[in-house]
Amino acid sequence: MKKKYLLAPGPTPLFPDAVLEMGKPIIHHRAPEFAAILAQVREDLKYLFQTKNDVLVLCSSGTGGMEGTVCNLFSPGDKALVVRGGKFGERWAELCQVYGLETINIDVEWGKAIEPRLIAEALKRSPDIKGVFVQASESSTGVRHDVQALGEIVRPYENTILIVDAISALGVFPILPDQWGLDVVVAGSQKALMLPPGLAMVNLSEKAWRFAETSTCPRYYFDLRKERKALAKNQSAYTPAVSLIIGLKEVLEEIKREGLEKVLAHHARLARATRTAMEALGLELYAKDSPSDAVTAVKVPPGIDGAAIPKMMREQFGITIAGGQDRAKGKIFRIAHLGYVDIFDITTGIAALEMVLKKLGYEVTFGKGVGAAIEVYYNSGGQG
Ligand SMILES: *Cc1c(COP(=O)(O)O)cnc(C)c1O
Repeated sequence: MKKKYLLAPGPTPLFPDAVLEMGKPIIHHRAPEFAAILAQVREDLKYLFQTKNDVLVLCSSGTGGMEGTVCNLFSPGDKALVVRGGKFGERWAELCQVYGLETINIDVEWGKAIEPRLIAEALKRSPDIKGVFVQASESSTGVRHDVQALGEIVRPYENTILIVDAISALGVFPILPDQWGLDVVVAGSQKALMLPPGLAMVNLSEKAWRFAETSTCPRYYFDLRKERKALAKNQSAYTPAVSLIIGLKEVLEEIKREGLEKVLAHHARLARATRTAMEALGLELYAKDSPSDAVTAVKVPPGIDGAAIPKMMREQFGITIAGGQDRAKGKIFRIAHLGYVDIFDITTGIAALEMVLKKLGYEVTFGKGVGAAIEVYYNSGGQG
């Protein structure tokens, strides 16, 4: 028997109270009982997103929320500016292309964050850009983009909106759509929300809703205006993922009970502990300048077989971390620390990593990474 640990950037470990609720016999989605649940979820999502606007709940993985954004707010030929600094930035570009948008890509070196002035310059050059697409946390590289700064830049352009993929950011570090001028914020159930994959959440500003009135892209299932109308009556347009929404209700209640600020502080502490541990082991962070608190990407040391690290972690210790994708394949590994994860999950992962690295020929003093993580945790108020 091998105990399993999930330290990948989604899916993440499930919140036990939610699992228990989701295991109960299903209820009908048009029954008053379910409408009451949706009403509560609606209110609590506004708290989580720190917004006064409704947050739509779609039944799909996070990408469905991204696709729904593109095909509901834009039209073929519209100009889109895409921050492409990793796999998920590429996804925005691909989605825009599929729907016939004229896509201008700003390629950012993997591991680096977008320099906001590049967006300002691009908008000055082409004020007819209708959408700026970015990730708040680019999970493939472990980078955090400064979406607050981008919000400031885009806000004065009346015919331009800022679309933020916050799928691995929401519930991890502050995302303030109303305050920062983030016109669309997309989240997913399987990251910090501690649920199985299957729900996408989309928050739109009034400015973004205006875009929905003129969009001519084809769509059927992901019709945001239809969902908005249904949600106003505590309903969904089609049969929703009833069980997942019941799980979401539990999770949101827990986040509210704990307080969002505390939840974010917890993530910041775990992230700092992980990064410090990696440096204590002599490893180099991939996203040194602007690391995301959701996932820590680490460079594989020279001479070490990078692909072997996640493989050995899983096979020998039952611990799932992520490797690198595409051009980062074999060059980095990624340890996630979001959702239902605590310091002991992190120190377990680091302890196993120390052993795996040693086995692969890297010089390790056992406990050095673990000790550094505990020290950061303790000194940053984690001991309570
Ligand atoms: C997980 C993730 C997604 C969504 O991927 P799905 O597999 O469709 O849920 C999108 N963007 C980022 C930054 C992510 O971390």
